[in-house]
Amino acid sequence: MLDKVKNNEELTKQDIVSLLKMDSKPELEELCKIANSESKEPDSCEFKKMVTLKFSNNCATNCLYCSLRKSNEKLKRYRLTFEQITKALDHLDTSQFDCILLEIGQDKYYKIQEIKDLINYANKCLGNKTFAVSIGERTEIEYKMLKDAGLNFCFLRHKISDPILYRNLHPDMKYSNRIKALWSLKKLGFNVGSGVMVGLPGQTFESLANDILMFKTLDIDFIDIIQYNPHPDTPLAKKFYRAGGYFAPAIGYFDIKEMICKMTAITRIVNKKADILVNTDMANRTQEELHFNCGANISIINLTRVELRKIFETPKILNSNGLFYKY
Ligand code: SF4
Repeated sequence: MLDKVKNNEELTKQDIVSLLKMDSKPELEELCKIANSESKEPDSCEFKKMVTLKFSNNCATNCLYCSLRKSNEKLKRYRLTFEQITKALDHLDTSQFDCILLEIGQDKYYKIQEIKDLINYANKCLGNKTFAVSIGERTEIEYKMLKDAGLNFCFLRHKISDPILYRNLHPDMKYSNRIKALWSLKKLGFNVGSGVMVGLPGQTFESLANDILMFKTLDIDFIDIIQYNPHPDTPLAKKFYRAGGYFAPAIGYFDIKEMICKMTAITRIVNKKADILVNTDMANRTQEELHFNCGANISIINLTRVELRKIFETPKILNSNGLFYKY
């Protein structure tokens, strides 16, 4: 199968499944090496750096794996005001990052006009930095208003491309709405970021292969592949612990880090032009580990947790979830 990758041939779903099943370490290293050479910054130790600001931890929906879910009564909620968000933007040292993502879940508390005001502000104060927002599913008309206000980059994770799994994990959301929203963003000419989770119950090699192909079908510009981490205050985590701390019975036992590595590498090989996020902290990475970037080229950095303490006199907010979100 690696020959097909080396020869730069188009990979079918079955090819991707075979690569995901690969269990030879030398072959995996070879795969990562090829993916790194395909990276947007091949052989570079320099990643683009991205910082994210989660400006609300409220959400109207109930995804089974997420601690921000509406029914989690243990979570201390916050919403930043326009003034607080702009103060945080003012405080950032723009020389230390390349792009910034302002994000929330399904929190319609913020009207489109407020998001537009933020876009105007960010475009003025961030100079040529890439500015992105992630505000969940909105109507095409609303997305267009943001585009007209000067937003070029919008982030919406599709999370999982298997409609049945999607329905099981998102009791109050519809897979078709998610995909429709992503197509709307593409149609409007946004650079679109999206992402998936690995290690969810019921995931199969086929559904992981579909996740990779979905990035290609939607021509996603920025890709985030994250590991499912059970949060104790979620229904899914309770199932996870009952299952002995392991999920994905359809696949069998696997090393989750290795699976993320394979997913990232194959995603790079299939989606050559996309930016792909490394899901570990740049600061902790050694030269040797960089070999295992697997073709990813963007690093999330937590520039600001300390900085924000200086701005906001509400350390409890910082402690509850971290305003600046680290993947
Ligand atoms: S929509 Fe996003 S923030 Fe809200 S519960 Fe689902 S994953 Fe969490």
